[in-house]
Amino acid sequence: MIKRSYYLKNRNYLSKYRYSYPKRKKSYFGVPYRIKLMDLFLYALPLLLLMLVIPPMHKEKSKEAIVSDAPPISDSQLKVTVYNPEESLISEFPLEEYVTCVVAAEMPASFHEEALKAQAVAARTFALSRMKGLYGNMSDHFGVHVCTEPKHCQAWISKERFLQVYGNENAWEKIEKAVEETKNIVMTYDGILINPLYHSNSGGVTEDIDAVWAVSGEVPYLKSVYSIVDESSYEEYEKKVSFTWDEIKEKLLEAYPESEVKSKFSKEIEILSYTSSGRVDEIRIGSIKMSGPAFRELLSLRSTNLEISFPDKDTVEIVTRGYGHGVGMSQCGADAMGKKGYDYIKILESYYTGVEVGEIKQ
Ligand SMILES: [Zn+2]
Repeated sequence: MIKRSYYLKNRNYLSKYRYSYPKRKKSYFGVPYRIKLMDLFLYALPLLLLMLVIPPMHKEKSKEAIVSDAPPISDSQLKVTVYNPEESLISEFPLEEYVTCVVAAEMPASFHEEALKAQAVAARTFALSRMKGLYGNMSDHFGVHVCTEPKHCQAWISKERFLQVYGNENAWEKIEKAVEETKNIVMTYDGILINPLYHSNSGGVTEDIDAVWAVSGEVPYLKSVYSIVDESSYEEYEKKVSFTWDEIKEKLLEAYPESEVKSKFSKEIEILSYTSSGRVDEIRIGSIKMSGPAFRELLSLRSTNLEISFPDKDTVEIVTRGYGHGVGMSQCGADAMGKKGYDYIKILESYYTGVEVGEIKQ
């Protein structure tokens, strides 16, 4: 669901990108286009024959070619290509510079330095695994390694923008230091770079990846684990939101035009099953059954770890625990662990079961 909504959300820029070229003229100096096309074909025929004989100097790279052309993993000059959908811009950055900008966008600089280091290792592993074509889908952004859309890849902020927004050179230096001190450190499982998903706050327990996304085979390092620290002191831990029944019906009809709902709403929302971490697995609204992540998307909720109540005849109250999809590292948990004296390796090992944290190997 998250992926599908990404497509829908970004359909506008994709169609702009595709259809921004000038339209063909139907005629040229009064000569009908059909005749002009025939002339052009005759002029181009000798050239076409030549092209068949001479091998092409350059062919446009396919997605596969870009994957196999990825630079060797031990190269200190690794460059990552980044697509910024907000600015419709593709840029290239040295890997460590990209990682610094991701940490700055993904985690508050006020978090503990060991949490920032853990975030740097996760961001670096994320980028390198995409550069090697292990996970994600570069064809979603024209063959570019990563994008700056947090729902699809990782958030990103330039140093210039960071200083404009936060005006704090010390905060930037703290982030840079965390990245430098973990230079070349990545996470692997069985010698292969992992897919290091992370989220804001686990609400106490993380989620299995296959409860959120369809994955082929086991992903042993993205299994539900209890956070070994208390994350409840963070603002991201718990939130109560209220909807009127009409608001919910409107959102439901927009997403599922075929849906039918009755007026006695308390009987019309029903949690059908829970995942092993206690999050909503399947829920029914009226005639529509949907997954927990789809329900979260529908009402823009923070989490699928939730409780529903009906304080009066027209109000639906939802209390969510945690923030984000819940898979992999909890950022608030990482900060809480750092404050309790754990180093970044222990933080990563506690959220990604069985991984190795170490230097990039060829
Ligand atoms: Zn992306």
